[in-house]
Amino acid sequence: MRVGTATTDPGETATGWLDVTTLPTGGRERLPVLLAEGTGDGPTLWVTAGVHGDELTGVAAAQDLLDDRLPDRLAGDLVVVPTVNPAGLRRTSRESYYHGDDPNRYFPDPDADQYRPPRVQQRIDEALFDAVTGDEDAPVTDAAADALLDLHTAHVGSLPFVIRDRTLYGDRRDEAAAEALRDDLAALADALGLPVVTEYTDPEYTGEGLHRSLTGAVTNEAGVPALTVELGTHSVVDETERARGVAAVYRALVNLGALDTLPGWVPDTEPITSGVDYRLRRAVHPHTDTAGLVRHRVAVGDVLTEGDPVADVVSPHGEVRATVATDHDGVVLGRGEGMAVYENDPLASLAVRDEAPLVVPREES
Ligand SMILES: [Zn+2]
Repeated sequence: MRVGTATTDPGETATGWLDVTTLPTGGRERLPVLLAEGTGDGPTLWVTAGVHGDELTGVAAAQDLLDDRLPDRLAGDLVVVPTVNPAGLRRTSRESYYHGDDPNRYFPDPDADQYRPPRVQQRIDEALFDAVTGDEDAPVTDAAADALLDLHTAHVGSLPFVIRDRTLYGDRRDEAAAEALRDDLAALADALGLPVVTEYTDPEYTGEGLHRSLTGAVTNEAGVPALTVELGTHSVVDETERARGVAAVYRALVNLGALDTLPGWVPDTEPITSGVDYRLRRAVHPHTDTAGLVRHRVAVGDVLTEGDPVADVVSPHGEVRATVATDHDGVVLGRGEGMAVYENDPLASLAVRDEAPLVVPREES
């Protein structure tokens, strides 16, 4: 197997680099690669992390995935890229400094209008996408992904959870193929030991460019099941969530049939659940129509019923100006950071009851 400069034979692990662009000051921007090639045949799982450069727990979890004992146990291959956005990592910044915007919104969408030549962040994203999908021009052999997990973090103190995209049909695949992709995504998501949250509905999904996130493009462009794993707090490595991230990847290997059981070296973490028995989708909710200072009335993990108060908005003197309630049943994933809010600012990240279809015609998106 080969990814960039890293090569393995069956039964081996290796490290190397995937070149993605030339730096103006000399040298190359390159992504670290770790490989484990199993002694048996089976699926190839890719794990990526750090596309948002301040989401460090995912980077640490990805760095800790390989073990010298893994290849002998493995039927298939594991490809790990622990730092997808080195420019962001250098500055502990969500964005790279190439464009100053979200690097996780430039993965391929052939339907997107492109009036000017792609700039460097898009070129980097395209190089990674080509490697993941085994494009013939990419420096990859026998390592195209059968599934991908992209490790992120969310809000300060947030609940860990996994995000699966809705699957689209149209030009790329018919409805039956989109349903099969939905089922593969659901099986993989349910295996990770974390609450499962479905991505925004359209038009918010495409409006926010999420079909051009790494997992959105791998799922809906390449047709390969890909999930986003959110591992709690950003900007510091959280040891509990790092362990949960490592365990989630190994659970995925078991689900995919690459391992029979969880090896003994995998961190011993209990699966966690959402606490509700209905399907959930992501929602930035509720928003305040009153400016002021936020005093949350909910904690992460709380189960909410429509109409429950989420936060008070108080004056600088501490007098309550408004109480903001949720319009949905759901679960608190994270609380908004900071205290000061302007009108229409969001107060929380919720997972709310999802009644929208999981398979959607692409024409509508
Ligand atoms: Zn992220």
